[in-house]
Amino acid sequence: MKKIHAQPPEDHTGIKIKKTSKTGVGMPAILSSLEHMRKYMNAADALKVSTKLNQKGGIDCPGCAWPDPDDDRSRLGEYCENGIKAIAEEATKKRLKPDFFAKHSIAELSEWSDFQLGKTGRLTEPMILEEGVDHYQPISWEKAFQLIGHELKGLDSPDEAVFYTSGRTSNEAAFLYQLFVREYGTNNLPDCSNMCHESSGKGLSQTVGIGKGSVRLTDLYEAEVIIIMGQNPGTNHPRMLSALEKCKLNGGKIITVNPLPEAGLMNFTNPQSPVKMATGGTKLTDLFLQVKVNGDVALLKAMMLLLLEEEKNAPGKVLDKDFIISKTNGYEDFINDLKKYSLDQLCEASGLSKSEILRAVDLIKYKEKIIICWAMGLTQHQNGVDNIREVVNLLLMKGSIGKRGAGTCPVRGHSNVQGDRTMGIWEAPPKKLLDKIESVFGFKPPREHGFAVVDAIQAMYDKKAKVFFAMGGNFISATPDTELTAKALQNCDLTVHVSTKLNRSHLIHGKRALILPCLGRTEQDYQAGGEQFVSVENSMGVVHTSQGVLPPSSEHLLSEPAIVAGMAMATLGNRTKIDWINMISNYDNIRNAIEAIIPGFENYNERVRQPEGFYLPNGAREGTFNTKSGKAEFTINHFTDFELNSNEYLMITIRSHDQYNTTIYGLDDRYRGIYNERRVVLMNKKDMKKNNLNKKESVNLVSEYDGVERVARNFLVVPYDIPEGCVATYFPEANVLVPLGLQARVSKTPASKSVVIRINKR
Ligand code: SF4
Repeated sequence: MKKIHAQPPEDHTGIKIKKTSKTGVGMPAILSSLEHMRKYMNAADALKVSTKLNQKGGIDCPGCAWPDPDDDRSRLGEYCENGIKAIAEEATKKRLKPDFFAKHSIAELSEWSDFQLGKTGRLTEPMILEEGVDHYQPISWEKAFQLIGHELKGLDSPDEAVFYTSGRTSNEAAFLYQLFVREYGTNNLPDCSNMCHESSGKGLSQTVGIGKGSVRLTDLYEAEVIIIMGQNPGTNHPRMLSALEKCKLNGGKIITVNPLPEAGLMNFTNPQSPVKMATGGTKLTDLFLQVKVNGDVALLKAMMLLLLEEEKNAPGKVLDKDFIISKTNGYEDFINDLKKYSLDQLCEASGLSKSEILRAVDLIKYKEKIIICWAMGLTQHQNGVDNIREVVNLLLMKGSIGKRGAGTCPVRGHSNVQGDRTMGIWEAPPKKLLDKIESVFGFKPPREHGFAVVDAIQAMYDKKAKVFFAMGGNFISATPDTELTAKALQNCDLTVHVSTKLNRSHLIHGKRALILPCLGRTEQDYQAGGEQFVSVENSMGVVHTSQGVLPPSSEHLLSEPAIVAGMAMATLGNRTKIDWINMISNYDNIRNAIEAIIPGFENYNERVRQPEGFYLPNGAREGTFNTKSGKAEFTINHFTDFELNSNEYLMITIRSHDQYNTTIYGLDDRYRGIYNERRVVLMNKKDMKKNNLNKKESVNLVSEYDGVERVARNFLVVPYDIPEGCVATYFPEANVLVPLGLQARVSKTPASKSVVIRINKR
């Protein structure tokens, strides 16, 4: 049997290296959006979808989870370039029919790049891969559900099955999915947030009593200072730049903390403002702190030490002592620990000078409306949870939470990843949720916690889990330790993917495999009760509707809720307590069930129909902290100081500008000046010189963990403005280097942002 490649091909595609951009968005973003619509969509669909995208009662963008304005939405277009790329990807005019699979074997397709696989068009029919066969074939929905039911019922225990969720799944589908999985008998509900903001959830729950951010969109407009750490919104949350511009126009200041000088954070050319387009845009960042990889806790500690000094010089002007006394717990222990560090030690560990850090302290010392925003650059480290808790320590010292213009702002990268967790997609469900399910539905849900993503991979690798079901996503490309994860999936008896497009996970399969094509966000969803809408929750806890406008791209597609219902009936048969047919006949029935189980969804069906949706309760936003002590908790945190030898580097995996998670829209990374190539390693020129490496030289990247070497071959060296000792690569190409065991303490989030690697000449 020919080798099936779990990693993207190692060939190069013809790199061009140009100047990095000095500003984000602007005309290039408009042209790129138009080009994607022209190339992949038919004109009528492009117009129909783009005029409804993120509008009230319209389509929720399947990209990131950046909120829409509560008030007026832009008539010109309430979306960004990457939002358009996301819908052009889903509403493509290309169709992927069964004859394609008859022509192309699994092994052959595995030699294609992720870009090529993704551009093959929308899946049109359910497909099965029988054991020992290397071509997918069509299968009926009925037979597909029977096969799933048969395999699940045949397991010795429900805990031998894994049910993964990707963050695009709607509230309605996610709620039904967890209900089915728990009635089936397991809590094996790993999801993509295990790999991204789980560290945020853990760190925030411990300190302020809720695993979500506390700010609203309007708070960013009113903030006096916004600190942006480990986040690149220019590519990953582009509409955030408009909010930052509003903050600047209102006199606010922006501090950016990142190993890379990301163009979108330095300057923003608002495409909706002819004046800004003509005059070069708005300068965003006032102070850029080019921290070394994983130097964030050291930086925050240094800032807090200096704030203590400032407080001594101006008592009562710097720290919010009233807030600290009345609203927090653990301050003394925290301060005693903080004083153990020397400023020199912290400057060294952060990679920054005292004067740089002092400038940051000068910007915040007399301010209280302070917001800290972050993304994967803080969460994907062994000390990921420590990073989040240290962010909270700084805000608590300043009393900058639970008031307007201040607070925490973890920015979610997937449109409904927060909603899925709220719906119960959680391997470690709270007792309250399980008690409610038992009392409302009359079955006993399992109480033992299930597998997070890294546990699920290990269980499949150890052959303790035999069935893998994925609701969306591209598991093999999103997860660490690619070759090990591939073996894990290939150990399964059955792998099932609910998808809209072909991706590499369909090629890394169990003995048998199924691809179940579902409706996308842009498509109309008709059920027995008529046309349906779904709902999602954005990064700021707003729940609102999303309704498709295009006819389904194939008559054989089912909605995600209908797929769950089909699987549930085939698996549970007469033992089920749920009327699945009724649930999916009208999604109001699902929302009524959600209202009965999940706090904060009172009058769900009525309130979700409000044009702007509704905010979920958020104690931290109101200054009420639902922790054990009933107060916000100061905590003691640690940072990892890496001792690197001369040929070792700390690698961060990043997205290019033409990428959304594992979806590759194109091969360019316009802001960073890298074109037509993804196998690149961004290096500091001094490090290149020290190791006698040249621009565009081909190298192998090697990581070693637990005595196992992992190699990513044939990467091209790109000189870049990055701190010495640090390098950056794109995922999924570099995920093979991230050991499964390298995880954040407590949250088990893969530590993809601080992996020690060697760079070897080829
Ligand atoms: S900012 Fe995010 S949610 Fe908004 S249009 Fe862009 S990708 Fe979509």
